[in-house]
Amino acid sequence: MTTTTIDTFVEPVAIPVRDLLPWLIFGGLLALLALYFVGAEQGATSIFGGMYVHEFVHDGRHLLGFPCH
Ligand SMILES: [Zn+2]
Repeated sequence: MTTTTIDTFVEPVAIPVRDLLPWLIFGGLLALLALYFVGAEQGATSIFGGMYVHEFVHDGRHLLGFPCH
């Protein structure tokens, strides 16, 4: 049995905060949008009419502990 060793050294690349900040803001907005649809998209705050979104995320709503009924 032979073993192979890897002698190459990979140096980590530093990502400046300036380059990372737009992606963090974008990810945060997507997370807030997902939180809105799972937690508050129903009744008076609904964007889409009917109960389609509510029924679609209903199990996730209960899993995350949002009250709905
Ligand atoms: Zn429910």
